Amino acid sequence: MAKLPGPLEIYPLLPGTNCKECGEANCMAFATKMAEHTVKLKACTPLFQDAKYAKKLDKIQVLVRPPVREVVIGVGENAASIGGKLVLYRHDLRYSNPTSFFIDVPDTLDGEALAARIKAIEEWTYVYIGTNLRLDGMALRGVSQDPKIFATAAKKLVELSSWPIMLCSLNPEMLATAANAIADKRPLLYAATMDTWAEVGEIARKHNLPLVAYAPGSLDNLSSLVGTLRAIGLDDIVLDPGTASRKGLGTTVDSFTQVRRSSIIEENELLGYPTIAAPITVWADYREGEAPELTKWDEVLTASALIVRYADLIVLHSLDMWTNLPTTFLRSNLYTDPVKPVAVEAGLMEFGDVGPDSPVMYTTNFALTYFTVESDIKQAGSTAYLVVVDTEGMSVQSAVAGRKLTAERVAETLEEYKVAEKVNHKTLISPGMAARISGETEEVSGWTVKVGPRDSSGIPKYLQEGKWKEE
Ligand code: SF4
Repeated sequence: MAKLPGPLEIYPLLPGTNCKECGEANCMAFATKMAEHTVKLKACTPLFQDAKYAKKLDKIQVLVRPPVREVVIGVGENAASIGGKLVLYRHDLRYSNPTSFFIDVPDTLDGEALAARIKAIEEWTYVYIGTNLRLDGMALRGVSQDPKIFATAAKKLVELSSWPIMLCSLNPEMLATAANAIADKRPLLYAATMDTWAEVGEIARKHNLPLVAYAPGSLDNLSSLVGTLRAIGLDDIVLDPGTASRKGLGTTVDSFTQVRRSSIIEENELLGYPTIAAPITVWADYREGEAPELTKWDEVLTASALIVRYADLIVLHSLDMWTNLPTTFLRSNLYTDPVKPVAVEAGLMEFGDVGPDSPVMYTTNFALTYFTVESDIKQAGSTAYLVVVDTEGMSVQSAVAGRKLTAERVAETLEEYKVAEKVNHKTLISPGMAARISGETEEVSGWTVKVGPRDSSGIPKYLQEGKWKEE
């Protein structure tokens, strides 16, 4: 497997001035974080700005280059970074750059329909554990087969949206016309094939654009195509080993797995690029009269299998809430850091127009626990203070068992946020799962502890009935 460089290999290639411009105390601290992949090289600005570091810059860029290159599509704050993968298995470190979801937009849509589709793509969102799940970009498909119509739709797209765009056509003339029209938005060109690499490669080179190398069914052909594109100076390459429609999912998953294994385990540079999958191909099997829901499920299933098996970008057609929920949930869970529990900030939260009579509750800073409790308090329609105890991101039950949630820690948090000064009572509602530390908490904190519901879904009723006030 590709060896990731350590701090002692990185440090000699940094300027060594300890100038702190990167936000770290010194170059060694920065090198350590580089080795942990928690900072990016570009944060060391002197390295890029001062010509005397040019040689060091060349060397360090090679040293820290991930086995799967990173490719950026689009510009500005919505630009999508794909690839940049360091490991095959998430537990070896973590995955970076979550799979990007691009939704198709046919160039044959008229003005109103085009605007409506763009709006629907941009507005698809779902709040999950405190983050907004969303889609990432648009794949403009040259259904018209007419370069002028394709270019006009591309221009319209960039007028209406600042999201990243992929230009999809196997006809180089179509790609050339649309790329000329919107090159400054850094679209991804889809695609160069064994037959069209020279023309499409030239478009990419001329405008400095990323492009997809498409060679379905043969990794030898794909490697050879990439080698040819590299030989003409291109390096922002995305690999498409082909996404078969309904009947070929097993073969497709196999190809994607081989590509990633080859780049990370065997350090094969020709396949060391991000991958693109097209679950949208299942629609090729759709027949009039069939329930479209079945094809949508095929698309969800294909997308899910390929998110798990290393697709860095997927192209989809379905835009329903229910089709994109499972895939965005899956992506969100797969791309969390396995050694870092999903946590929120500890502190004192206020719900509603709180006053001295408001109840005081506490919970842990495990994100899933916190957001569930937050939602249940809001549902109660009652005001409340919620003390969020730092349990290093552990849930209530685990934190009690692991001594991360103790009477002392609860008392310290009450003290730290001066909760007693905000209310005219000293009653604290504990999570039902923390009942076993309630007596000790009373002793250590001096607050009266009322044990709340074991399941947070009982919170609305508990607060509405004012049970915490009972003697
Ligand atoms: S910005 Fe670069 S030179 Fe300055 S301290 Fe950070 S790593 Fe060292």
